[in-house]
Amino acid sequence: MELTSIKGIGEKNKLILNKMNIYNIEDLLEYFPYRYIEYKLDNIKEVSDKTNVIIKGKIDSTPITRYIRSKLNITNFRLYSNQKMVNIVIYNRAFMSKQLTPGREITVIGKYDEKKNTISATNILLSNVIEGSIESKYHLKEGITNKQITSYINNALNLKVNVTDYVPEYLNDKYKLITKNDAIEKIHRPKSINEIKKAKLKLIYEELFKFMFKINYLKYLKTKENKKSKKEVDITKVQEFIKNLPFSLTTDQQKAVEEIHKDLTSETRMNRLLCGDVGSGKTIVGVIASFECFLSGYQTALMAPTEILASQHYENIKNLLSKTKMKVALLLGSTKKQEKEKIYEDLKQGKIDLLIGTHAILNEKVTFKNLGLVITDEQHRFGVNQRNSLRTKGILPDILYMSATPIPRTYALTIYGDMDVSLIKTKPSGRKEIKTIIKSEKEIKEVLYMMLEEIKNNHQIYVVTPLIEESEEISEVRTVTELKEKLDEAFNHKIKIGLLHGKLDKTEKEKVMTDFKNGNTKVLVSTTVIEVGVDVPNATMMVIFNAERFGLATLHQLRGRIGRNSLDSTCILIGPKNNKRLKVLEESTDGFYITEKDFEMRREGDLFGVKQSGDMEFKIADIKRDFKILLEAKKDSEEFLAKNITNNFKNQDKYIKIIDELKSLD
Ligand code: ADP
Ligand code: MG
Repeated sequence: MELTSIKGIGEKNKLILNKMNIYNIEDLLEYFPYRYIEYKLDNIKEVSDKTNVIIKGKIDSTPITRYIRSKLNITNFRLYSNQKMVNIVIYNRAFMSKQLTPGREITVIGKYDEKKNTISATNILLSNVIEGSIESKYHLKEGITNKQITSYINNALNLKVNVTDYVPEYLNDKYKLITKNDAIEKIHRPKSINEIKKAKLKLIYEELFKFMFKINYLKYLKTKENKKSKKEVDITKVQEFIKNLPFSLTTDQQKAVEEIHKDLTSETRMNRLLCGDVGSGKTIVGVIASFECFLSGYQTALMAPTEILASQHYENIKNLLSKTKMKVALLLGSTKKQEKEKIYEDLKQGKIDLLIGTHAILNEKVTFKNLGLVITDEQHRFGVNQRNSLRTKGILPDILYMSATPIPRTYALTIYGDMDVSLIKTKPSGRKEIKTIIKSEKEIKEVLYMMLEEIKNNHQIYVVTPLIEESEEISEVRTVTELKEKLDEAFNHKIKIGLLHGKLDKTEKEKVMTDFKNGNTKVLVSTTVIEVGVDVPNATMMVIFNAERFGLATLHQLRGRIGRNSLDSTCILIGPKNNKRLKVLEESTDGFYITEKDFEMRREGDLFGVKQSGDMEFKIADIKRDFKILLEAKKDSEEFLAKNITNNFKNQDKYIKIIDELKSLD
């Protein structure tokens, strides 16, 4: 159903919803809250210092508003609540002051300081709050408020459309799960915490069941349609190539090379994930695979998620292969037309042995003479739906995925159950460790001083800040821009600072990156868009603001941007000093250890905890937190598949739909 047929949604807001990946009513109904506020009224006489009090009371004095700066005003008034007078202070609500008339009953939410008998309010509600009611909070995009999205969802729910339940009936019974329709209703409009729990359990299980169903189906396909011709590789030439490298391979690299060699020379198509921490040396393993492919007379395609990364690979790999006869080419969207035509022609004739580019290289009108291997870098960017895409090309190349998400083997075997996995656990020796320190916000002066020192030594710095999605007013652009302004001020505008965020278009982004790479800018302020693969060896410091808001894995990935040469590097995490998760990072730079800890800590968090965003492709499940459920879903979906595959899911079209989705993706 069209979004605009839902009451309240016009053309303009439809476009904003689209940006939130909401295209139809089902998407809207499955746009789940990420957190809830329970309105349990506090008695001001009984609370002492508390961060989140909710009290009802009557305004007792005419509010006074002071304007401090253009973006800052403060309003003060007295509130009479439960026979006690309390002071209220709230920022940036000058626009409300007309409505805050003495005698009016309001609800105030905020932090109570008993000594000062003052509530520093985060919110004032004019309408009557129902005791015990629960408000759902949604992640928002600029231009849409929580109130609006809540109202759209309400209107959609009132249409009572039937949503597909992918959990087979007997499994719903087995786990006593509520119906999907019920779960959708309750996740958005819960009447109690218990209802949220039940709804979440159902939706998480369903999501994981569907996910594991796909994985298991791909695994089944693999055993069925995976014959290819063996590649004949002259192993002495490979050994010679390895011997001539400027370094010797680590044990894990050698093992991965051997596993890949076995795959290439076998009759079964390779579908392998090469998993290793940032800097563990995955590229050379991929390069050796492409060399073997070349020796056996086939071409290789290497795909990177961004043009910057593809270019970096190209420069680096051309070097590594300079002593061989392999011909390497780079194909980007921005490559000049004439040059493109030439590359197409050369590929067709087999004059190019290794083509490097973004994912576009398999979609464009590119025809290979005989493509034998596809390598995709930073696999964690591609979801399960994309994993199958190469099968439909009519060609059956071997496939190697390279991923920097260091994931423990047991987990890898589950979520990548349709692939074989090679792990590189140890880094090449002689690497400088990155020193990580936690600094509280109060110590910011010291941090600025450390930054200055680093710049004096002619090094460069990344500054990263999270998106504060909770706030309806603060947008990504504003968050980073404000931080840049503050730094400009702190450094007296004497240091060139670049600014990178997701709202820049591709050319703008590349310009910012190139400026930083060339050292034109000394500091790069950004959101997490720099996360993947960027290589600026002269950057030796990273400062992460509000570090406690990032997931462990993200912080670890970010930190991998520094420590890329023989210089000492420092990562400064700004956040609470006693934060357990930040301490893990201070303690170790081993990605596998950190991920293990991450799994442990999230398991301790209950089902009710806030899901960390950016984790694979899930809307509500968190595979680390919900790993037990994932294992159940794995077993269940295997059984279900085995039972139904023989009769081709008779009378169960919804599963055919999932399979078709998997098959048709390009
Ligand atoms: P990643 O796994 O993050 O993709 P890269 O493949 O980019 O890591 O390797 C990081 C750096 O380590 C590169 O400069 C590469 O040349 C170097 N390198 C790779 N393997 C070794 C090794 N065995 N000994 C020394 N340096 C190595
Ligand atoms: Mg890499």
